[in-house]
Amino acid sequence: MTTILERYVELHPGSARLHERAARVFPDGVMHDLRFAQPFPIYVERAAGSRKWDVDGHEIVDFVMGHGALLLGHEHPAVVDAVAAQLALGTHYGASHELEVRWGEMVQRLVPSVEHLRFTSSGTEATMMALRLARAHTGREKILRLREHFHGWNDSVTGQPSAEETVPRSPGLPLGILDASIVIDQNDIDGLERTMREEGNEIAAMIFEGTGLHWGTDPIDIDYVRRARELTREHGVVLIFDEVITGFRVSEGGAQLAYGITPDMTTMAKIVAGGLPGGCVGGRAEIIDQIAMRGGGKRIAHPGTFNANPLSAAAGAACLAIIGNGVPQQEASAKAKMLAQRLNAVFREEGIAGAVYGQASMLQIALGMEE
Ligand code: PMP
Repeated sequence: MTTILERYVELHPGSARLHERAARVFPDGVMHDLRFAQPFPIYVERAAGSRKWDVDGHEIVDFVMGHGALLLGHEHPAVVDAVAAQLALGTHYGASHELEVRWGEMVQRLVPSVEHLRFTSSGTEATMMALRLARAHTGREKILRLREHFHGWNDSVTGQPSAEETVPRSPGLPLGILDASIVIDQNDIDGLERTMREEGNEIAAMIFEGTGLHWGTDPIDIDYVRRARELTREHGVVLIFDEVITGFRVSEGGAQLAYGITPDMTTMAKIVAGGLPGGCVGGRAEIIDQIAMRGGGKRIAHPGTFNANPLSAAAGAACLAIIGNGVPQQEASAKAKMLAQRLNAVFREEGIAGAVYGQASMLQIALGMEE
């Protein structure tokens, strides 16, 4: 009998060949940690709607959807048309343009915490800028994070501060940065209260993922979020919701609109740019406006060659125009719920230990556990 692995290798000779070349150029032959697969990942040739096709001609139902960037699926006609129209007009002006204004106004209108914003090229840049803004605003250095919450790969949010942690200190990071991190457990209100009591006046920002660690693999309690909002306000700590995944997905205004809890700052990427590269940091005007040129040299610089580049602005504005009424999110969430129910029924019928669960249109599959 052939194993699943043998069958995989047999079915994907084109991908195997490409991976051989890739492995001579890139570490592990891939461009993103999550694309690492053994013995090799598949190579995709094109995508449309809910599907993508690999170089060996297989049609694949795509549940990854651009790492969460594609709420409308691949090649949505409105996004394709907007990008094509912009392509004919220029891909980079190195100057301001109307589309970036329209795009920014949409984000400002949809996301409750956003009074002012800046576009970036990625979510990693957005969280990097958010933390810098918070440190400058408060004059404090420490960042309070929740264990296993992911915020991209910038220095301030990578690795664990103590060698005793289960996840080791990340190599390559200055120890000072790790020492300025406090990592506590999500949903432990007592722990949060203690940390705030003991170190609150040294903490610049508290940052967490909108729906809990790894896009809600372990969901965050609403009571915890509410308490975090109260305590950060009390201690003058800037509260940052990292809505890179949950933004525009959990609702048209992200998790914060669904909760009715407004942070001081929000980081966004993925859906905000309609499937092209892009990110955004937004929040209270007095915090974001530290970027503004107002003399005295006390400002935070924000260059970035591709900030609000015209193609991302075109895709982002086209996407937000469609999803701004919240209807596509509701449809996606309903489909995800149906998929979870059916998969759980299959698990039960087949006697498979595991469960499918999630929030909005984000699904998790847990295998190998009884309940
Ligand atoms: N924050 C969260 C919650 C994320 O999920 C990600 C990416 N998956 C990032 C930040 C980083 O975004 P990017 O990959 O655009 O740098």
